[in-house]
Amino acid sequence: MGFLIGKRILITGVASKLSIAYGIANAMHKQGSELAFTYQNNKLKPRVEEFAASLDSNIVIECDVSNDGSIISLFSELQKTWSKFDGFVHAIGFAPTDQLNGDYIDAVTRDGFRIAHEVSSYSFVAMAKSCREMLNKNASLLTLTYLGAERAVPNYNVMGLAKASLEANVRYMANAMGPQGIRVNAISAGPIRTLAASGIKNFRKMLAHYDVVTPIRRAINIHDIGNSAAFLCSNLAAGITGEIIHVDGGFSIAVMSE
Ligand code: NAD
Repeated sequence: MGFLIGKRILITGVASKLSIAYGIANAMHKQGSELAFTYQNNKLKPRVEEFAASLDSNIVIECDVSNDGSIISLFSELQKTWSKFDGFVHAIGFAPTDQLNGDYIDAVTRDGFRIAHEVSSYSFVAMAKSCREMLNKNASLLTLTYLGAERAVPNYNVMGLAKASLEANVRYMANAMGPQGIRVNAISAGPIRTLAASGIKNFRKMLAHYDVVTPIRRAINIHDIGNSAAFLCSNLAAGITGEIIHVDGGFSIAVMSE
């Protein structure tokens, strides 16, 4: 028996088979969840439709989170099929490439700062704001963050600030929605080669360092993240809210290899 049977969960952020959201959708499907999907733009639509069909879903709706109208129309569209649902996964992050390269002080700009924070942090609460009335009691909201929120990671730059904002967002949202029976958490994922990650300069070097230092001595993959995400969105995690759970093989607690 899957521990997500009877749950309806909306997945954002699938861009390819490498996407963390793809790993999450697969794990949730294995645990019996019904799924709906969003895609950012028309270019991604056929690919997301194909992934959705492979996971027994035909609910695939456009949503560009940089646009309030697009978020509102996502939920009015979703309501036609699901009047109520049990949560969503926010696997969305973006900063212009020039922000993720070199010295932080030199690279950061007002526009880069605004875009990174709007798309990567504000969008999480913006989605919650738009669908609050559609969420069942015991619903769970989940986002993806990274260690760059807590430590200064070379080249991650303004995304680190946006992730720090996102993590604070998790705590404020958990506090605001808890009385309604809704939990809000984040997974702080170890580095995984995805389309978004390939925009960060020297990402390969980061992975190599991770492989040597991390206590479990292996790379984290989208299945590791998917299984933890499925747990967090299930009633098994009923007592967990406002948390940033590191699914990083222990990298964040280690200092160096022997
Ligand atoms: P990915 O490129 O597969 O996914 C990023 C997704 O964000 C894409 O689906 C893209 O369409 C979506 N997106 C970007 N701007 C958007 C917008 N305006 N509206 C709607 N969607 C938009 O990469 P990923 O690594 O799977 O990223 C998913 C999340 O995981 C991100 O928040 C990322 O920061 C986070 N994360 C990634 C890693 C890693 O190493 N890959 C580590 C920790 C956290």
